[in-house]
Amino acid sequence: MAILLDEWLSYEPKKPKPKQSIGPANVLSIFNQKGGVGKTTSTISIGAALAEYGRKVLVVDFDPQGSLTVGLTGNHEISPSVYDLIVGGVTTQEVILKTRVPGLDLLPAGIDLAAAEAWLFNEVGREYALQRALAPIINDYDYILIDCLPSLGLLAINALSVSQGLIIPLQCEFYALKGLALLQETLEKVQSRINPNLEVKGILPTRVGRSTHHKDVLELVIQGFGETVFHTVIPDTIKISDSTMAAQPITSYASSSNAAEAYRHVAAELIERIEGKK
Ligand code: ADP
Ligand code: MG
Repeated sequence: MAILLDEWLSYEPKKPKPKQSIGPANVLSIFNQKGGVGKTTSTISIGAALAEYGRKVLVVDFDPQGSLTVGLTGNHEISPSVYDLIVGGVTTQEVILKTRVPGLDLLPAGIDLAAAEAWLFNEVGREYALQRALAPIINDYDYILIDCLPSLGLLAINALSVSQGLIIPLQCEFYALKGLALLQETLEKVQSRINPNLEVKGILPTRVGRSTHHKDVLELVIQGFGETVFHTVIPDTIKISDSTMAAQPITSYASSSNAAEAYRHVAAELIERIEGKK
């Protein structure tokens, strides 16, 4: 293999400097049309790590399964929720909740969000409902991370239309490469028809075990996508599933674990990629 994996993973981002002022927010969708790849876990953990670095962060639950909401509150019946924002009648400020992590806020969702898709269908500007909902608070945060549902439907298009960037969690199985090709097609359509500013900010290998198969796929991903891939992988570890059960980010649940450190590394890389450009 031309690429030495160890060398790739040895890259160290600069330690993030404190930010002088808040906002306007960089809006990022955590996106992959496949379920169970670590989207929700990554939204929570990157969000919490960015907040540890002093960034003001809002995480948006945009999956009717509500896993992000449960994962941060332990509660799955929160009202009002992002559904009420989409169909109208409440303000964004009324729906936002503080979490136990300082600097990390949550826009919760529940199963009623599934009905929003049908409701949106007949609306004028149906691709931009989430954009309208987030507009009033865009200057209150440095980062808004949207936890997308595993589909390419209207809710996902809403997330992509308001985002400047995508983070793509990727499980290093061979079929994942096919999934990436499909995702690329969707991305190109959204870029040409709805949001020309949308960029992939990073592909994040998740749930990486010790098998040579994972390593082989990882090397293929790095060869194919180069610097788009983060120089960190998230290890497959029981500590992460335990943190999900405990409804806490891994950065609080097992603060000094490898997985927590990996997510801090990703957050530092993200800050370098986004704020380094300004
Ligand atoms: P998605 O949002 O893409 O459907 P989740 O983040 O909800 O995926 O993860 C699915 C399940 O896998 C959860 O139970 C979570 O605890 C577990 N999980 C996610 N990442 C890891 C990891 N790195 N190691 C072990 N388990 C993980
Ligand atoms: Mg999820």
